[in-house]
Amino acid sequence: MDTDDHEREMTQLRRRLAALTEEARKNDDAWRRAQAREMELLEADTLDALLERLTAGMRASYRLDAATLVIADPDHEIRRLLVPQGRHSGPHADVLFVDSVHGVAPALAAGRRPWLGRFNPTDHTLLFPTPDALESVALLPLTRQERLIGCLNFGSRERERFLSVLGTDFLHHLAVIAAFSLESAVNRARLVRSGFTDALTGWHNRRYLQSRLQEELARCRRERTPLTCLMIDVDHFKSVNDRFGHLAGDELLRQLAHCISGEVRGSDVSARYGGEEFVVLLPGTGAAAGFVLAERIRAAVAAEPFELPAGSPLPVTVSIGVAEHSPALEERDLKSAGERLLALADVALYEAKSGGRNAVARAANS
Ligand code: GH3
Ligand code: MG
Ligand code: MG
Repeated sequence: MDTDDHEREMTQLRRRLAALTEEARKNDDAWRRAQAREMELLEADTLDALLERLTAGMRASYRLDAATLVIADPDHEIRRLLVPQGRHSGPHADVLFVDSVHGVAPALAAGRRPWLGRFNPTDHTLLFPTPDALESVALLPLTRQERLIGCLNFGSRERERFLSVLGTDFLHHLAVIAAFSLESAVNRARLVRSGFTDALTGWHNRRYLQSRLQEELARCRRERTPLTCLMIDVDHFKSVNDRFGHLAGDELLRQLAHCISGEVRGSDVSARYGGEEFVVLLPGTGAAAGFVLAERIRAAVAAEPFELPAGSPLPVTVSIGVAEHSPALEERDLKSAGERLLALADVALYEAKSGGRNAVARAANS
């Protein structure tokens, strides 16, 4: 080998090394980016945020033409968890809830590995509601403890993007992280929801009311709208417990919550405030209209005797205090403004009680 040959070979080797280094750098970058995406899934604060990252987030990060998510939700529980509790929660257009994932993605029945291949309208239209000239797709089964809990679907207009001959390790890894994130976000949402829910009536509890009251007060200041609070208390409830037992008392509270729900609007905020006390917040409503509603609730309860588990129906009545948040007396901090509104409604309730019960009374300022 002469010097020229040697030089040529060295140059070729250098080039090859440079190309390999460049490829390694690119792989390294891609790996780092993929890891960052996966961290974002694991760290999503809420179920809402996770669904957004699994769809719009994936589409942007991996330059996909479509990214959709199918979630198995046979009891509609996950959908209920997503119903807003006074906070923002928009619908997720790219998330589809189904009774069973197998029904919409039969290709996944065979295994737990991602399925890659050509887009086929017959098989894939349900997975991609707006298919928009898709050519190739990747379907990632999301499994937890051998159960198919969902399916993450990527679509591309490039024919070669998702080929069945491609290695699927990267996608499989992503699917494992996505499934884990989905399951834990659902569990966390369940916990948050139960911390704000009264187990006996299914209504919101006092803790929820307190945080929601501050939000409503802030809104009523911002938008210059009224806010009225009804404090509802069962008359002589103790005697129901004493005569018929604690379980009958519980059943009465359940029936009562149901009866009150029939009178209030979906935008009103109802909560079980204490043992036999209920609070209803009426955003956008002043004391005069609040009084009319309170009268309606009082009359509805009085007209519907409580069905005892055994024995004849028992008449039940409630007393109600009505108070309006008065912007003129606005406290700077929302917490004390909320406490003040509840205290005013409580004083009015006391008046309704001392006036003979089965009555509604308005606070002095309202
Ligand atoms: P008033 O007309 O003045 O409101 O009389 P009351 O008997 O309704 O009022 P009081 O506050 O003295 O009694 C409320 C009772 O409610 C006392 C408590 O033991 C009972 N209680 C509180 N929480 C529950 C519950 O979850 N279930 C049942 N069964 N009873 C409860
Ligand atoms: Mg009471
Ligand atoms: Mg009572």
